[in-house]
Amino acid sequence: MDMRIALIPGDGIGPDIVREGVKVIDRAAELFGHSISYTEVDAGGISIDRHGVPLTDENLEKAKAADAVLLGAVGGPKWDSMPGDRRPEKGLLGLRSGMGLFCNLRPARIYPELSSASPLKDEVISRGVDLVVFRELTGGIYFGRKGREGDGAYDVMSYSKPEIARIARKAFEAARIRRKRVTLVDKANVLETSRLWRETVKEIASQYEDVELDFMYVDNASMQLVRDPSHFDVLLTENMFGDILSDEASMVTGSIGMLPSASLREDSFGMYEPIHGSAPDIAGKDLANPIATILSCAMMFRYSFSLESEARCIEDAVSKALADGVRTVDIAAGGSYIGTAACGDEIIRRMAR
Ligand code: NAD
Repeated sequence: MDMRIALIPGDGIGPDIVREGVKVIDRAAELFGHSISYTEVDAGGISIDRHGVPLTDENLEKAKAADAVLLGAVGGPKWDSMPGDRRPEKGLLGLRSGMGLFCNLRPARIYPELSSASPLKDEVISRGVDLVVFRELTGGIYFGRKGREGDGAYDVMSYSKPEIARIARKAFEAARIRRKRVTLVDKANVLETSRLWRETVKEIASQYEDVELDFMYVDNASMQLVRDPSHFDVLLTENMFGDILSDEASMVTGSIGMLPSASLREDSFGMYEPIHGSAPDIAGKDLANPIATILSCAMMFRYSFSLESEARCIEDAVSKALADGVRTVDIAAGGSYIGTAACGDEIIRRMAR
């Protein structure tokens, strides 16, 4: 398969971790016989330095012309005093909205070797934590009508059936290649939008009879994520609930350097990035954990290229490396550790068909 990938290293540790991601993509391409071409795109602080703005139209077009995008991270103290519309984060927002990404995916998984980093008790973790949050990104209360009236204020939450249906389909497709369960998280006892979500998701579910669908109120879901996260396989939810629950889900794993994410469009195009930031405190010191980025590359193979074996090959190599004691400083728990590039090398060595 021919793949065109846009790389957006960004700022801080971004270039270091994207470099490791590229090594892993290249190795997967070599093992499975794919051909990859890369184009580099400036966004964030580096774009401010080079072009005066966090994202130029030309760079956005370059990213959109690719099949998928791998992003490191943007931002850092150098640009903290910039006015709001010229800050590095604006580059990220410009990318997300400019590319029409409406579906955000955040897996949360606890590796047995790192379970001590989780704030959860062993008896909870031992049941297994391997879930993915599907969060709607472009609708709901964040984007509804808002304003002030007298001494009051309002934010309107609204959704349309097509907006719900398109992310529901993505969630069911993902469940099919996972443990075949979708949990719709909502507040259907009080919100009309939630009732529309239930109706629509049930309709979509009828096209996926091999996938089990259940429902949970958001207040209960926030409890179950810490009480029994093993209940969840694919957790599907609207924008604001997803914002909150995806952060909760990621903290359950306890290690920010390990968590990948994806943002998808209706077709197969997607942007893949670690959930952590540019970690300016460790930038350029060969200390960053590249695993969140490497796992984001696995997601790229799975969701943009529908290449499940390649995705598994990368994820299995990460698991093997962890089982063999490969650690960067953030997950070493005071023990011995290796640098960013060496960690990437250890993972590549364990990749096999
Ligand atoms: P951060 O995620 O960059 O760092 C938080 C802590 O986690 C730091 O101690 C850092 O060293 C550590 N850390 C993060 N990633 C790591 C990794 N891969 N390996 C080892 N340790 C890691 O969050 P922050 O300090 O709040 O933000 C720093 C900058 O990043 C800010 O400018 C912020 O705006 C930006 N940011 C960018 C994104 C993004 O690009 N998606 C997301 C969050 C924050």
